Amino acid sequence: MTNALFSKAEFYTTVNQLRDLPKESGVEIAFAGRSNAGKSSAINTLAGRGRFAFVSKTPGRTQHINFFQLGARRFIVDLPGYGYAKVPLAIRQHWTELLSQYLQTRETLFGMVLIMDIRHPIMPLDVQMLEWFALTRKPVHILLSKADKLSRSKAVETLRYVSSYLVAHQITGSVQIFSSMTSEGKDEAILLLKNWLESAEQALQTTSTESGQKKPRSKGIKPG
Ligand code: GDP
Repeated sequence: MTNALFSKAEFYTTVNQLRDLPKESGVEIAFAGRSNAGKSSAINTLAGRGRFAFVSKTPGRTQHINFFQLGARRFIVDLPGYGYAKVPLAIRQHWTELLSQYLQTRETLFGMVLIMDIRHPIMPLDVQMLEWFALTRKPVHILLSKADKLSRSKAVETLRYVSSYLVAHQITGSVQIFSSMTSEGKDEAILLLKNWLESAEQALQTTSTESGQKKPRSKGIKPG
């Protein structure tokens, strides 16, 4: 698939405090995951280049929220990785505040892509992320990364397990197998992002033309 979605992608900004978040405008899709789950690799694989991970992995920025712009008014938001074994309490508290508030209150956020190592799916902090986000009733899409490290049958077994977890917990979402090493699942993920962005933009247009009046910005966009 030609990856037109990321053809104009560039780094936008990095923030470490809620008050520094850019003004809400356009559509955001967040990427989250435990540290080392393969989030940076996944973003790079989808974007088709290595510049972004470099930004996110720059010392001092790994605990930041990093924004990448995909052309006009479309953003990929790389959330800080969680689950380091020995993180001081103050940093964990900061992480909790930053992520929970961003996920629950950001109106321009349309959906969350959650990356999990296919060998260790649905760890306690992943559950925490899913629970926070479920309150918004926005969609989550899970990438089961590093699928190249499992046999096909084990990978499919995990896919079914995570899929049934979403159903059992009434989470609006979907799940797929992914590998940055082999690019397995890349086209499927890009198609999903494209659909999300288009749905969000359609919802924005509907909101702004509903009563023949243009509203200043979207309020509470719900997935279509
Ligand atoms: P992050 O901390 O979630 O951003 O994780 P990274 O993208 O930095 O990946 C962590 C480690 O896993 C690195 O050594 C990557 O090379 C490796 N990795 C990431 N994705 C894959 C994958 O799909 N397959 C394999 N075999 N290794 C991967």
